[in-house]
Amino acid sequence: MRIRAAVIAKAGGVFQVRDLELEEPRETEVLVRVAGTGVCHTDLAAARGFLPVMFPAVLGHEGAGVVERTGLRVTRVRPGDSVVLTWGSCGACGPCRRGRPAYCDRFFQYNFTGRRPDGTTPLRGGVGEVSGVFFGQSSWASHVVADERNVVPVSSHLPLEKLGPLGCGVMTGAGAVVCALRPEPGSSLAVFGAGAVGLSAVMAAALSGCDPLIAVDLVPERLEMARELGATHTVQAGKEDPVRTIRSICRGGVDYSLECVGHPEVLRQAVEAIRPLGVCGLVGMASPGTRAPLDMNTLLSGRTVRGIVEGDAVPDLLIPRMLAWYEAGKFPFDKLLSLYPLNDITQAEEDMKAGRTVKPVLIP
Ligand SMILES: [Zn+2]
Ligand SMILES: [Zn+2]
Repeated sequence: MRIRAAVIAKAGGVFQVRDLELEEPRETEVLVRVAGTGVCHTDLAAARGFLPVMFPAVLGHEGAGVVERTGLRVTRVRPGDSVVLTWGSCGACGPCRRGRPAYCDRFFQYNFTGRRPDGTTPLRGGVGEVSGVFFGQSSWASHVVADERNVVPVSSHLPLEKLGPLGCGVMTGAGAVVCALRPEPGSSLAVFGAGAVGLSAVMAAALSGCDPLIAVDLVPERLEMARELGATHTVQAGKEDPVRTIRSICRGGVDYSLECVGHPEVLRQAVEAIRPLGVCGLVGMASPGTRAPLDMNTLLSGRTVRGIVEGDAVPDLLIPRMLAWYEAGKFPFDKLLSLYPLNDITQAEEDMKAGRTVKPVLIP
């Protein structure tokens, strides 16, 4: 069928919205009409060539929409069902069988290449094949074909066009708190970087009863938003030394910190801000080969640094949980979103890079 999608021809290229041809879903796949699809920093990293995506490609991995058709062996959803699209995993390897799909042995093949694990793609354009399975979905498009493992059914009375970011960015921040760090009520937590991921972490930490709950960022407007979403303290990096300020708020440092920036200096701060036996979660993605200057003696005194992919989440469990919080008015993730028509994708990208919008959502 004919679809509209934002195509990028090569690493470092520009996005062009045009018509493409999408194959029918295979036996275990579904065809989804996209209602809305977020823009995540991983998309922009892929567009710059930091991931092994085969170009030309359609990116986008925070889609939500309505199932239109299903393959013969699909059992999870039916035509007409509302779904959030999410990232892929094999379901068969050790980490997947232990309930840790974000650490799937084949995470790269399922998410970063833009192709199905067998190398094929359901999309073609004027010049030939177009990668159409980025993170199992390539959702900057009017329609996508995705494996049923990549869709999570949701209630149809929710604002579907806004739900896509639950499948990656919001999941990454919220999951880092409730699935990975699991702070006890009353424990202290500092979030470095108040973008979509960091602010989602702030909301989840507030729900978990973290106090003090400290947000660190360069931009005053984002810190103000962090306060609105539950931060008890904010630190404007660049104006004050985050480590010193955090230690003055919490004697000896915080119990937990989260690095949501992907910057070596910020990781150093996030580690030095925790107390002995504290845990620093690394969520931010740095460019390949980035090294961080950690004082080995800081680590020696019982501190832990651990990487966290996709919030350690099992999407089928965390997405419904986040939606229940949202419906109870305790997780207003939609405050992070700004909606743009798919045609304005370049504007959305510029606004995101300039910090004018936290999380753009494209409407096909
Ligand atoms: Zn796996
Ligand atoms: Zn993402």
